[in-house]
Amino acid sequence: MNGYAEEQPQAAQEQIQIPQGPTNQPNILVRNLNRDETTFHLSGVDMAYANSLRRTMMADVPTLAIDQVSFYQNTSPIPDEMLAHRLGMVPLISRDVGKGLRYTRDCDCDEGCYYCMVTLRLKVSAVNREYGSPMAVTSDMLEVIPSPNTPQQSPYGPPPDIGEEERELIAHHDPELGVPVGKGDPTASPIQLARISRGQEIEVVCKAYKGIAKHHAKWSPLSAVAYEYDPYNKLRHTDYWFETDAAAEWPLSANANFETPPNPNEPFDFNAVPSTYYMTAESVGSVPVRSVFEQACDIMVENLAQVILAVQQETGVDEDEIGEGEGIVEPGMGMNGGEYGGGYDQNGGGYDQWNGGGGGGGGGGPGWAGTGMSPLRR
Ligand SMILES: [Zn+2]
Repeated sequence: MNGYAEEQPQAAQEQIQIPQGPTNQPNILVRNLNRDETTFHLSGVDMAYANSLRRTMMADVPTLAIDQVSFYQNTSPIPDEMLAHRLGMVPLISRDVGKGLRYTRDCDCDEGCYYCMVTLRLKVSAVNREYGSPMAVTSDMLEVIPSPNTPQQSPYGPPPDIGEEERELIAHHDPELGVPVGKGDPTASPIQLARISRGQEIEVVCKAYKGIAKHHAKWSPLSAVAYEYDPYNKLRHTDYWFETDAAAEWPLSANANFETPPNPNEPFDFNAVPSTYYMTAESVGSVPVRSVFEQACDIMVENLAQVILAVQQETGVDEDEIGEGEGIVEPGMGMNGGEYGGGYDQNGGGYDQWNGGGGGGGGGGPGWAGTGMSPLRR
């Protein structure tokens, strides 16, 4: 792709081979993976791809979160609205929720059922507690109770009168679905919801639905997902603000160990594009981070297929009829280094020409000069 990318295999740490090369094939090198956290290198793709993955992992992978709270009793100092909000933010175990639960909008039921909802109850009382020793109400006190239409537990499996789709949902229904993350784990500290004193009590029933973080952040499976690229700022995408010396005031990140330091005598390569993204994702515990990544990849494929279908419907062109080099662009085509870099130049030229064309003067910029048309109007 460019000189900068091809130099990278001589990374500082010898034991790690960074997947590289002038390829349009995405490569992933997992540096660290456990249930809740991962760091991996994504290479061979452009930034739009890396960012799509980041955003899909953050906002499109479904989880379960409390969405409706019915208050039967709340004499705690926390107002109902605030307590409901705090309950909504409690991460709930959501493994396989993509296949194990329907969105409630897709369900035939009226007010939530086993196939679209998990019901939780919080019932705590400090009525007989001593004065001066308030009690912490935590997420561990939430208990899952059966939702309406829960299939009867039977050694012979689900009842025969249910459909194929329901059977599928039952098969993927995780037995721990909806349990607050960390409940029963002595190493995890529970989330405090309120504190109640003698004579106070809380009794609520919560409905937890499947959702995605595009609608509300409480449904995000990740507490953090980010990527870094070009730790040496060779591409000069960042302007460092500094007092006296940028190098001293901006320490290098740990990811710099995986790249070759810049040569100060080398001319600036203005066609260079980023090639390796150092991605980190941290789960809230509701879905293992590996599963978040896998689901995000599936969702991206699905979303891209929808775009292709929509384009086909709009243009009336079938994919099979498209000749070489026209119509729908294959992933990677037109996104590689040279063309991407060139795109910036054309943009600059485009603006100049726009001014020139509109005012009848001013002169066209490079790239589009002489065409007499703005790239926006061609
Ligand atoms: Zn339902």
